[in-house]
Amino acid sequence: MRDLTELILDLIRDVPDYPKPGIVFKDITPLLADHAAFSAVIDALAEGLDVDKVVGIEARGFILAAPVALRAGAGFVPIRKKGKLPAATFDASYDLEYGSAVIEVHRDAFAPGERVLVVDDVLATGGTARAAVELVNRAGAHVVGVSVLMELAFLKGRERLDGVEPRALVVV
Ligand code: AMP
Repeated sequence: MRDLTELILDLIRDVPDYPKPGIVFKDITPLLADHAAFSAVIDALAEGLDVDKVVGIEARGFILAAPVALRAGAGFVPIRKKGKLPAATFDASYDLEYGSAVIEVHRDAFAPGERVLVVDDVLATGGTARAAVELVNRAGAHVVGVSVLMELAFLKGRERLDGVEPRALVVV
């Protein structure tokens, strides 16, 4: 097995000018299609975890967070775009590298004080992760970490996550 950083860098494809001019989209589908790489990434994200719930952010966050939750012996909680969750929710709005959005979590997704890891594919400006942390806190749980496959350091998303040190498998 090649070094994990090298594997991730090789298998995340840059798609220039998607979804709009000037954005270089980090496409994780080649990595997901490679069993050894996908499995190594899930192992790395789950390593040493001691949490009650793993939160995935719609949609690519789901693909990573659900197997991490299973591997870590934790439950999985989805944070979804507005209007998709059926029961009572908390919502938070935020700005994206390209556009803006509202995300939601079920009000009863966590027991009070549960330990939570938030997982997404890419940390860009940090707006999404910050809103996710806010939602988990409002729902009465405690965020112990934010983990991503790839951090785009030039967008300084890390600086927007006060009090939570994000962990990235690869920083570019
Ligand atoms: P941000 O809120 O700016 O940190 O953006 C992070 C969210 O948007 C994540 O859910 C990513 O999936 C997505 N995202 C932002 N920028 C990119 C990018 N350049 N390539 C792939 N996904 C991105």
